[in-house]
Amino acid sequence: MVKETFISKQAIEEMLALSGPDALDLREKASRVRDDCVGRKVYFRGLIEFSNLCANDCFYCGIRKSNRKTERYTMTYDEIMDCARFCQEAGYASVVLQSGERRDPDFIRFVIKVVSGIKAELPEMRITLSVGEQDREVFRRFYEAGIERYLLRIESSSRRHYQRLHPEVMSFERRRKCLEVLRSIGFQVGSGVMIGSPFQTLGDLAGDLLFMKAMDIDMVGMGPYVPHRDNLLKNWNYDAEKTLELSLNMVAALRIMMPDINIAATSALQALDGSGREKALSAGANVIMPNATPLKYRQSYSLYDNRPCVTDSPYGCRSCIMKKIEESGFLPATGEKGDSPRFLKRVENNINVCNC
Ligand code: SF4
Repeated sequence: MVKETFISKQAIEEMLALSGPDALDLREKASRVRDDCVGRKVYFRGLIEFSNLCANDCFYCGIRKSNRKTERYTMTYDEIMDCARFCQEAGYASVVLQSGERRDPDFIRFVIKVVSGIKAELPEMRITLSVGEQDREVFRRFYEAGIERYLLRIESSSRRHYQRLHPEVMSFERRRKCLEVLRSIGFQVGSGVMIGSPFQTLGDLAGDLLFMKAMDIDMVGMGPYVPHRDNLLKNWNYDAEKTLELSLNMVAALRIMMPDINIAATSALQALDGSGREKALSAGANVIMPNATPLKYRQSYSLYDNRPCVTDSPYGCRSCIMKKIEESGFLPATGEKGDSPRFLKRVENNINVCNC
């Protein structure tokens, strides 16, 4: 078992700046760490993007509330249940229910109804919820309804940088506090950042990795920043190749820093490179989130441009990704929940104490 060692911010920055053969060496090292600590299995989370309504206005996002060009939708209870059943049949032992951020009581009730329905019919299915910041009491209700995992991306761990990407009403502190609350309730906690986003420095990214470690995050989904045609940052000078390289180095550095967490090979990588997800697996990632959202809604969940898989059916996505995983030398862990080993260790040591 690989031991965690302290890596200074400067050393992380140096890792992130690597390119060419040096970057490949870094990713190979990270891949060996992953093999030693969590093996070569790839775990699946069937992604159900059940609504693109959002109360926020993040400057980089295609479905922010002020973008009137987006066609809005919310899937029905029955449609979501059908997606969950598909995930079960497909061998995804885990689903991610994702939407824009809403805190109104109707939305909260609907989410709880859906989760209760999935748990009643598919009790073994692990559920990750990703619906943004909520009050402690709401998080607690979600947990009691059967949600085991919660994904809340911090997007940037630098307060300065966070505020440049979000309107003033959105608070970095509140988001960080939500992560602490989620942990205290007992969730497996996921977070992540955007890589290569406007105004970001290498120091910010190194700080992001140190933040994941300091917060003892169980699962991480970091994706490259990919511009959206209607976002408010579109004039930023964007370099797709550099962003891809940086993203893969981030995955590798994080695996070396936190060997026993789950790290997603995010779909956004595929927007930059058709083999982006497989490259992330080779750099230390161990989780894939195949899209299980019905085709008729895919185009409308448009967080960024050039989203991959918007024309592939959930069945098509499944066979495509299984083939790619096997061709890349990894083992598709169908039917396995793939809880974060770091989380399991924490529970075993009884240090996941609820103090709500
Ligand atoms: S990033 Fe999330 S919270 Fe922000 S506008 Fe987009 S969907 Fe809403």
